[in-house]
Amino acid sequence: MRQSDYIELEDKFGAKNYKPLDVVIEKGEGVWVWDVDGNKYMDCLSAYSAVNQGHCHPRIKAAMLKQADKLTLTSRAFRNDQLGLFYKELCALTESHKVLPMNSGAEAVETAIKAVRKWGYMVKGVPEDRAEIIVCADNFHGRTITIVGFSTDPVSRKGFGPFTPGFKVIPFGDIKALEKAITKNTVAFLVEPIQGEAGVIIPPAGYLKKIREICTANKVALILDEIQTGLGRTGKMLAEEHEGIQADITLIGKALSGGFYPVSAVLSNTEVLGVLKPGEHGSTFGGNPLACAVAREALKVLTEEKLIENAQAMGEKFLNGLKEIKNDKIKEVRGRGLLLAVEFKLNAGGARQYCEKLKENGLLCKETHDNIIRFAPPLVINSKQVYWALERINPILST
Ligand SMILES: *Cc1c(COP(=O)(O)O)cnc(C)c1O
Repeated sequence: MRQSDYIELEDKFGAKNYKPLDVVIEKGEGVWVWDVDGNKYMDCLSAYSAVNQGHCHPRIKAAMLKQADKLTLTSRAFRNDQLGLFYKELCALTESHKVLPMNSGAEAVETAIKAVRKWGYMVKGVPEDRAEIIVCADNFHGRTITIVGFSTDPVSRKGFGPFTPGFKVIPFGDIKALEKAITKNTVAFLVEPIQGEAGVIIPPAGYLKKIREICTANKVALILDEIQTGLGRTGKMLAEEHEGIQADITLIGKALSGGFYPVSAVLSNTEVLGVLKPGEHGSTFGGNPLACAVAREALKVLTEEKLIENAQAMGEKFLNGLKEIKNDKIKEVRGRGLLLAVEFKLNAGGARQYCEKLKENGLLCKETHDNIIRFAPPLVINSKQVYWALERINPILST
């Protein structure tokens, strides 16, 4: 089959809820992927940071195959020999006390929302059904009804109401707005440490520290959605470490499995997860032995192969290279670790054209919103590969 045949099949039988670049990938290894015609590309999206460890990492693959040979799913009706070890290793790495395992990122967000509401009623003393959660404009936390209900992106929301009540939206990076929005019924502030899907929006310096203080002072649970920023992407295990804070609840997913399998988790430093009683929440696949074995190895790869330090070092090189691009139509170049973005001015005619040209030159990335290109290669990238990428990006983004 030719590339166009695969595309035709997808378009004929599939729901059109995505608009992918027309490249049909059949193989991946490290930072590289190959299409069905044998063309090789550098992946500068990493499945939205789900393949931080690189495509088809041999150690994670081996762990998955080994576990698949023994046991894959028991449901939580029974215990399994991987879950406790997964908890222990994850808690040690993230300095957490409790874990609740789920599958997708959106499920982790939903789980946190349930837990903080219950905590608000049982511990904080908020009157029944009055809990409020504060979120930020331009957030991205997933695609369920509750989550898109507090999105400010019209495309995500329009036509999907009615929505879950109990959410208040404030501007991102705005301390005063947070102070003003908190009431005696506020149970949590849910925020991304860096807004990924909004276009790698980095808050003002000191923001995380300040929101930590405000949440503590008002007995509001701070929920950091680190599903994209976590697990090494920004040059730290968790992005919260850039300002030396600890969230009450941390959400991780994506790279937790190195791209092999959906695994997400709610991590807690406080009594919040403790309010959940047997039967009040669950997931058939959450915490299954295959997921745990894969995630355990994916975490080991991150630390033992020093991918977090590498993200920091390679991110600096990549960012400096992007900053050298001369084009009046570029509004800003920014990033932290290997979560980088080039934002074009409105008169540039959109970022998609650049992504198409980069694809023709062997580099895959995706525009976010109309004017921003995110560069987020797997964290296994080396210096030579960073320069290889910059050599291709520079001429294309200079025109
Ligand atoms: C991707 C993402 C999610 C949703 O994860 P899914 O696995 O797609 O449900 C939530 N929050 C952030 C910050 C994300 O980047």
